[in-house]
Amino acid sequence: TALPEVATDRRIDASRMKVTDEVAVQISRMNKWYGAFHVLRDIDMTVYRGERIVICGPSGSGKSTLIRCINALEEHQAGQIIVDGTELNEDLKNVDKVRSEVGMVFQHFNLFPHLTILENCTLAPIWVRRTPRREAEEIAMHFLEKVKIPEQANKYPGQLSGGQQQRVAIARSLCMRPRIMLFDEPTSALDPEMIKEVLDTMISLAEDGMTMLVVTHEMGFARQVANRVIFMDQGQIVEQNEPEEFFLHPRSDRTKLFLSQIL
Ligand code: ADP
Ligand code: MG
Repeated sequence: TALPEVATDRRIDASRMKVTDEVAVQISRMNKWYGAFHVLRDIDMTVYRGERIVICGPSGSGKSTLIRCINALEEHQAGQIIVDGTELNEDLKNVDKVRSEVGMVFQHFNLFPHLTILENCTLAPIWVRRTPRREAEEIAMHFLEKVKIPEQANKYPGQLSGGQQQRVAIARSLCMRPRIMLFDEPTSALDPEMIKEVLDTMISLAEDGMTMLVVTHEMGFARQVANRVIFMDQGQIVEQNEPEEFFLHPRSDRTKLFLSQIL
């Protein structure tokens, strides 16, 4: 086993990435089925504020389902998920509250093609948060600057590269002021030359102290940015560790096999 190649030549300021002892997400004995198919099995997981967790594992192991459960895009059938002190249950008020605190970025950027970049970023703040338009636009420009594309504000998604669109998707999420960000293979649909610009954006978010759960095959990113790597297989958390240990001394055979296939 070896360490993966680093993902970025950007200097990373790790001193600003602080894990606190405040719990952001608590998952206990959580189980989920799709019909008769038992997709998540006895998931136990505590995420502390400021953590950058990379979740990896073979295709079909339940990674997307797990993070979709954390913002109630999927329902779980047993066990408990508590996000920022709010339990995800039948109470729709709780579901709304959790969704407003958790941002999600998908593999396919899911921008609205008929709206400008700025409009994509102000839509939810204006209509869900009732933020005045002028203020929503100021916030949107702030985050478009953060992802380094303020000059694209009045273009349409189709006029941007894939990497730029994904950075807009990140900015759009940030406009709702989430306390936790979930990423589901954010670079998997991108051409290689665009992967780095999206990873660099995510690194800058990590440096701001954002709590992040990232499903990715970018093991270089995991090595450089994650404080913890979780390996899933067949609906279970098989193994987790800090990146160095995870890559250099994987414990389970399933983890070893997975790493030998992707590194
Ligand atoms: P991963 O993200 O690790 O590739 P997923 O969470 O997408 O895995 O899927 C885990 C398993 O659940 C797979 O076997 C997949 O086919 C199945 N699955 C995913 N979504 C659904 C669904 N909506 N209905 C039924 N089965 C699903
Ligand atoms: Mg997936």
